Amino acid sequence: MTNQSNMSDKSPTTNNASLSELMHESTCPACGHHVAVTFYRGGSLPLTTQAWPQSAQEAHEMPRHPHEFVRCIDCGHVFNREFRYENVPYQTKPNLMYNRGKTWEAHIERVKQLLLDQLPEVPTVVEIGCGDGTLLCSMAAARPQGRFYGFDPNAQIETGGGLIEARATLFEPSKHIAELKPDLIISRHVLEHLMNPLGFVQQVAFASSWEDAQTKLYIEVPCIDRVFELNRTIDFYYEHRSHFTSNSLTKMLERCSSEVEMIATGYNNEVVMGLASFGKETESIEVAQEAIQFSHGAMEAKNRVRTQLKNLQAAGKRIAIWGGTGKAASFINQFDLDEKSFPLIVDSDAAKVGTHVPGMGQKILYRDLLVRQPADVILIATQWRARDIAMEIESAGIQADSLLVEWRGELIDYHLNADLFDTNRGETLASKSNKDHRPPERAPHLFQPFPETVQQIEDIT
Ligand SMILES: [Zn+2]
Repeated sequence: MTNQSNMSDKSPTTNNASLSELMHESTCPACGHHVAVTFYRGGSLPLTTQAWPQSAQEAHEMPRHPHEFVRCIDCGHVFNREFRYENVPYQTKPNLMYNRGKTWEAHIERVKQLLLDQLPEVPTVVEIGCGDGTLLCSMAAARPQGRFYGFDPNAQIETGGGLIEARATLFEPSKHIAELKPDLIISRHVLEHLMNPLGFVQQVAFASSWEDAQTKLYIEVPCIDRVFELNRTIDFYYEHRSHFTSNSLTKMLERCSSEVEMIATGYNNEVVMGLASFGKETESIEVAQEAIQFSHGAMEAKNRVRTQLKNLQAAGKRIAIWGGTGKAASFINQFDLDEKSFPLIVDSDAAKVGTHVPGMGQKILYRDLLVRQPADVILIATQWRARDIAMEIESAGIQADSLLVEWRGELIDYHLNADLFDTNRGETLASKSNKDHRPPERAPHLFQPFPETVQQIEDIT
C-alpha cells in the first residue's frame, strides 16, 4: 500500500509521461553516468553566438540543429544529447561574445585575485582558450618572474608586449603538461563547449600524475542553478553542449582530482568556479605501466613465435595447426600464419571441418588426417583448451614429435609443461583485483628443439 501511495505522489510531477519517453541512455559529459531524462526540448534552432549573419536572407537560411536537452539523474548536469561538435564552426567564425559590463569586470578582478593567491612567487601558468589574453596578461604583470602561456587556436592573443607567450593551438594535456609542468591551468568558459569535458579533466589528471606535476586546475563555466527557480530556458542554446550546476561541476572534479579545493558561484550565481589539485595517483600509473608492458610483450611474442616456427620449417618439419576458428583463428591471424607457409589446419569439430580459416583461407580438415599422415609438430592454437586437445590427440592415436603451445610469448612443449594447463586450477577471488590472489606460476620448461634446429633457435635468443 505504501508503495502505491508513493507512486501516485510522483505522477503529477512527471505529467503522466511514461518512463520510456522520459529516460535516455546517454552518457553525462560531467560525471559519466549513463541514464538521463528529458529536460527541455527546444526544437530545431540556429546557432546564436557562433554566427553573425550579415543579411536577413543569410539569417533565415542558417542551418538548424536539434536542441534535445536531457538531465543526468546522478549529478543534475544538463546537456544536449543531439549535439555535434562539428556543427559549430569555431575555426571560421570565432566566438565574438564579450561581456564588457562594469560588474563583470569586478567579477574578473575577483577571479584574478583568487588565482594569484594560489600561485608561488615564480609560477608557471597556462590558460586554455585565453581569448585576447586580458586576464593572463594582468596576472603576468602581478608576477613578472613567472611564465604565462595562453592557448587559443581561434583568437588574436595580445601578449602585452611579451608578458605572456601566445600559443595559437589547442592545449593537449599529454604533450603540454610534460613540456610546461604548470602550477596552474585556467579554463574559463571553455568546458561548456566541449563534447566531453570530463574526458578533458581526466586527461589533465592523468598527465599530471604521469609527469609528476603538482598541477591545479581552475574551471569557470556558466551556472544553471538559477534556471530552476526562474524557469528560464534561454540558456539552452546549441553552442553550449553542457550546462553545469554547482553540483555537476563538483562531481566532475571529485571524480578525477586529488582534492577539490574550492567550489564557488559568482556574478549573482550565474557562473560557477571550481579549483582542484592533481598529484600522483599510483594506481592509475600502475595500470598504465601494465598496459605498456603488455603492449611490448605482444610485439616481442609475435617476432619470437614466428621465428620459432620459421626455424622448424627450415628444418623441414611438417607442422599442423589444431583449430581454425575462434581463438585459433585469432592466433593464426595475429601471428600471420598464412595459407602458403602453414597450409595444414585440423579440427575435431565436424561442424568446422570443410570451412576455411577467417582471413587466411586454409581449409579446415578433420583431425584423423593426422593418423594417416602424421605431422612432426602439432601447434595447439588455443592455449586455454590445451589439456583437452592433448587428451584428444592421445585418445585418437595421433602421433607427433611434439605438441607446442604459445606461453608468455613463446612456443613451449606441452608434455614438458602439462601442469601449467591443468584445468582443475582456479581461485576464489575475494575482490576485483586478481593480482594478489593468484599463486606464483613456475617458469615454463622451454621447448627442446630438434637437434638439427638447436643452432637456429639459439640465434634468436
Ligand atoms: Zn552526471
